[in-house]
Formats: sequence, structure tokens, C-alpha cells
Amino acid sequence: MKGSGKKRRKLNRLGKITLGSFILFCMVLTYFIWDGIAEKNAAARKNILMPTKIVENVNAKDRQSDSIEGKTNMAKEKNQDEQGLESDEQIIDPKKNDQTTNDENKKHEQELEKHKQEIEKQKQELEKRKQEIRKHEEELNKQKEETEKHKQEIEQHQKDVKQHNENSKKDQQQSEQPANEKPPVKTPKKEQPKEKAPAKTGKIVYLTFDDGPHAVSMDILKLLKKYNAKATFFMLEPNMRNYPKAVKAMVKDGHAVGVHGVSHDVSKVYRSPASFVGEMNKAIAFIQKTTNVQTHLIRAPYGSKPYVTAPFKAEANKENMILWDWNIDSTDWKMTNGAYVNSVIQQTIQFNKKEPLIVLMHEKPTTLAHLEKLLKYYKDNGYEMKAVDETMSPVQFK
Ligand SMILES: [Zn+2]
Repeated sequence: MKGSGKKRRKLNRLGKITLGSFILFCMVLTYFIWDGIAEKNAAARKNILMPTKIVENVNAKDRQSDSIEGKTNMAKEKNQDEQGLESDEQIIDPKKNDQTTNDENKKHEQELEKHKQEIEKQKQELEKRKQEIRKHEEELNKQKEETEKHKQEIEQHQKDVKQHNENSKKDQQQSEQPANEKPPVKTPKKEQPKEKAPAKTGKIVYLTFDDGPHAVSMDILKLLKKYNAKATFFMLEPNMRNYPKAVKAMVKDGHAVGVHGVSHDVSKVYRSPASFVGEMNKAIAFIQKTTNVQTHLIRAPYGSKPYVTAPFKAEANKENMILWDWNIDSTDWKMTNGAYVNSVIQQTIQFNKKEPLIVLMHEKPTTLAHLEKLLKYYKDNGYEMKAVDETMSPVQFK
């Protein structure tokens, strides 16, 4: 029994040691757990993020590695959070929201600035256009002024032409230097419509007498004067030599004097353009010498048809001659009994051409014998009997 008691005490001692060791182990374990929790809490306090992560790692034996891992995880989490924030809707983050608003404001401000600039630009363009309009208006006004000026110039020119015409008419009646006589020859064609206008009324008649002068010329002039009539005389050079006083009287009385050549012989006067113009020039020279009038009025013997062909006309034009035919033939050379008067009156009434009334007569006793009847008719019927002048476009056979 003594051996079994020793054994029991030995067992009790072993149990006490085992129990003590166990308690010590438990205490140590508790300490570690407690320490671990405390550490984690501290870490969690430092960074609010994910305390669960720490709990998960609590059981890890290596505190340092645990801590490092925790820190790494935390860093990862933090990183993820930031990334998430960036991808998340901006409204969630007030900071981000503010920035967005700022950006928008900035954007708006920029747009506003842009609009302002555009408005400024448009204003400038408007101003530019206004200036252009003003410029156009000024130009328009300028043009108006110029037009007005031109109008006045034209009017002045017309006055000048009128004055010139009157002067040349005067010159025809009196006398003038040949140099000044030339220009009016070119003007007649311009003045044609102006001069023709009165003829259309049918109240102007141009009496013409060929083949003179003659012994009866002075009586014809006397009669014309009585009826306040002016006429035109186309005279032959030899007859003018015989009656120079008549030529002078014609000019003095205000009639027009022209030439009819020299020979009145078809074979001579129309032998060539040169002979035609030569005869005319000889007669013109006589008038010039006798009256000082430089005339350009000519009438071809027997009329311009058929003898005065283009070469004849060209030659006459070179000398600025004005060739007159007629449109009322009295045939007074044939109707010696005075019947020509009624013929002329009838032709005058029936006249429907748009040209001046040009009556052909001759300086003959039988013409003079019945002339008064014709002059009376014209006067009583309101006709003005006028002499042709060099400003008129001549009536010619067509
Ligand atoms: Zn004749």
C-alpha cells in the first residue's frame, strides 16, 4: 500500500501541473486574442474602411504579416473606392458635383463670351453695310447731279443748234465767209426731225422756182412780198448774168437762192459727175460774187432721176452740195392757161407724205399770170410759205 500512495501523490502533482499549464496556455491565448483585437480596432479607428477585413485576418499567427496584408488590402480597397467614385455618377459626390457646376458655368461663360463676340462682329458688319449704303446714296446723288448737268448741257446744245440754224439762215439772206458756211451743211441731217415736224401739220409750203431769173422775176418777188411769202430760186448761171439785180433782190427779200447749173442740156450737164458738179459750182460762184451768199442748194435739171446716179451724188457730196427735188409738180410749163394752180391746190390737199411740201414751178410769164391765185389760197388756208434752208434735210426722189 505504501507504493500505491506514492503513485497517487505523483498523479495529483502531474494533474496540478497539467491544469496549471492549461490555465497558463488559456491566459496566453486570451492575451494574444485580446491584443490582436485591440490592434485591429486601432487600425480600424485610423481607417474606417472595412473592419470586416481585419476580423477575417484576426486568426493569422503572424501579426506583422497580418498587418502588412491588412494595409495592402486597405490600400487596394481605397484604390478601388477611388476608381469607383470616378466611374460613378457625379451627383453622388458633392465635390465632383461642384466641379461639374463650375465647369458648366465656365462653359456657359465661354459661350456667352462667344455670343458677345458674334454680336460685336454682326454690329461691325451692320455698321459696314450702313457705310456702304451711305456710299451708294452718295454715288446715286452724284449720278443724279451728273444727269442733271447733262440735261442742261443737252438743252444748252439744243439752244446753240437753234441759234446756229438761225444764224445760218441769216447768213443765207445776208452774206458770210465761206469758212463759216461749211459746218451747217453737216447739221441738216441732225435737224431733220425738228424741221420736218411743222411740215406734218400741212400748214407750211415751200414754193420753188426753176430756170430763172427771168424778166418776170421782179414781178414774182413783188407778188410774193404782197402775200408775205418766201420762196426758193434754183437759177441758171447764164440767166443770172442777164438778171443779176433779180438775184440781189431775192437775197434782199429773204428768199433762198440755189443753183440749177449752166447749160440745162442733158448731154452736157450729165456728161460726167465732174461736169455736173462743175456747172453747179460755176453758178454758185456767180451768186457768191453777186450777193456774197455762199449757197449749197442745188437742183438737177429735170430732177435727180434718172440722171443723178451714185457717182454724181458722191461728187456733189464732196462739195457739200444739198440736192433738192420736189413732191408737188405744178407742170406750169405745160399748163400755160393757169390750170396748174388748181393742180397744185389739189396735190396740196391730197398730200399725205411725211415730208415738207415742196412745190415745183418756173419763172415764166404764164406762171406769174396765175400765181396770185395760188398765193391767196395758201394764205387764206393758213399756210406759211417759207424758203428752204440749209439745215433742212432735202426732199429727194426715191
Ligand atoms: Zn429746169
